[in-house]
Amino acid sequence: MAYSEKLFDYADDDQQAIADKRAGDTDNRGYIGIHSASFKDFQLREELQKAIRTHGFEHPSEVQHQCIPQALNGRDIICQAKSGMGKTAVFVLSILHMLKVEENHCQAVVVTHTRELAIQAHDEFKRFANDLPVVVDYYLGGEPMDVQVKKLKKNQPNILVGAPGRILQLLEGDHLKFDMIEYFILDECDKILQNTDMRAQVQGAFKRTPRDKQVMMFSATLPLDIRPICRKLTKNPMEIYVDDQAKLTLHGLLQHYVNLPEEKQKNRKLVDLLDNIDFNQVIIFVKSRDRAEALAKILNTGQFPTAYIHGRMEQSARIRIFEEFKNYRKRILVSTDLMGRGVDINKVNVVVNYDLPPLDKHGEHESEKNSAFNKAVDQYLHRVGRAGRFGTKGLAITFVSSPEDATVLNKVQERFSVDIKELPLSVDPSTYKDVARGEI
Ligand code: AMP
Repeated sequence: MAYSEKLFDYADDDQQAIADKRAGDTDNRGYIGIHSASFKDFQLREELQKAIRTHGFEHPSEVQHQCIPQALNGRDIICQAKSGMGKTAVFVLSILHMLKVEENHCQAVVVTHTRELAIQAHDEFKRFANDLPVVVDYYLGGEPMDVQVKKLKKNQPNILVGAPGRILQLLEGDHLKFDMIEYFILDECDKILQNTDMRAQVQGAFKRTPRDKQVMMFSATLPLDIRPICRKLTKNPMEIYVDDQAKLTLHGLLQHYVNLPEEKQKNRKLVDLLDNIDFNQVIIFVKSRDRAEALAKILNTGQFPTAYIHGRMEQSARIRIFEEFKNYRKRILVSTDLMGRGVDINKVNVVVNYDLPPLDKHGEHESEKNSAFNKAVDQYLHRVGRAGRFGTKGLAITFVSSPEDATVLNKVQERFSVDIKELPLSVDPSTYKDVARGEI
């Protein structure tokens, strides 16, 4: 099947306004995965308990229940847990509880694979550290070095969040000091360690930290070949793996596919979905930066105010778009896999895989092919996890336009024991939309 890289133009006269019905009245937070124990059991410092109440966290999730006590005991952790179930709060709360602030010393570092995720983790620290005298900051590539160097000269943040490239640059220039690091966190650790450049950068940073520190790593996917690398960076870690992959399926998430044998059918179908699906916010994933821009342009012409984001954009534009979408000023976002992992925007209740994740280049060898497909299957899981955060409802729709697409989707079904059916003519909005989060 010819599978063109180019997006087909589509214009339709009779587009309707986006359906914006409020529907369904059940909030299915509280299903399995959220623990009945209380945050009080962790005996966190009062400032944190207050913040937990303020932010409406009622019960710890399963991953929080498993990991927070171990983290507070100083144990290294390698943790696989499903998407959107509160992994960030594990390290945010634990570090904020344990940290004895030493002014002008960097004591904790959180490494993320994208700048957006760094900002998100930074914001999560800030919102829980409101009443604590701790300096939290992020340092990202794409921003002027000289400004960052000046800032670091004045003050080293107690908690630093960033992507590995800039962190290493700052360390190599001796602007940043890691000799007092007590906590080293890798978020989406498999993604970071699978990438040879990022892995080398992390190792470079790691070497500059004291031997005696606590290391914690998290991801929803922890492939077997990455686990030994994780272990090398830790000491006697508590390891949590979800070996029954079915347990990674998000129960609040409806998953469907649409067969579109020709690439050019995709735009018409997408517009049809945007007209008829009751979404709060939607992320549409495409396989290349050019396609992200082209598709957003088409949707904007067709009266769907749409933003796009990808890794080749200027840093300032990227952050602006991310914030705009996060603050609900745009409801439709077209993205490459940049937004595919970790990003937590709780009004996103629909994800569309306009393109499935591209397969890594592979030869004819069976093991190479398998590895390429496995990565795409992992990425599918991360992408659809952008909807259905913390046990809420969501809908994921995947366009299938090539034999490879069909193979990926079949592997998703096998691996996660999930039955992905063809999208019916209509879907009851109460099955994928929570009233509580739909109301603005
Ligand atoms: P994460 O998996 O860390 O991205 O978290 C997903 C979302 O769940 C974020 O919006 C968190 O603020 C939220 N969250 C995390 N833990 C809890 C909790 N115990 N109760 C309610 N919401 C939570």
